[in-house]
Amino acid sequence: MSKTPGLSDESTKTGNHIVIDVERCKGCYLCITACPHGLIEKSDCLNNAGCYPARPGASAEIRCTACGLCWQVCPDVAIEVYKKEKEPDA
Ligand code: SF4
Ligand code: SF4
Repeated sequence: MSKTPGLSDESTKTGNHIVIDVERCKGCYLCITACPHGLIEKSDCLNNAGCYPARPGASAEIRCTACGLCWQVCPDVAIEVYKKEKEPDA
């Protein structure tokens, strides 16, 4: 996992994916609009602030390109993007 601004290397998952901090999320859903692949959805569970946070959809771990658009638009810095490092050339 690479670590660049907006991208974190603290996840144990190996592919591109995002993590949304549900308690930081205020439910504006800008990330849902921003994702070009429609990988983020509205949760059906309330957070402690009383809103329905965004969450990665079922195919997010397969189709996420780690483009970072969701991270860029989030006003509450609630999203981390994890980018898989390229395999070294054989
Ligand atoms: S953009 Fe940020 S605050 Fe808005 S719904 Fe997405 S994660 Fe939540
Ligand atoms: S990093 Fe890009 S592809 Fe992945 S969930 Fe965010 S906007 Fe969608």
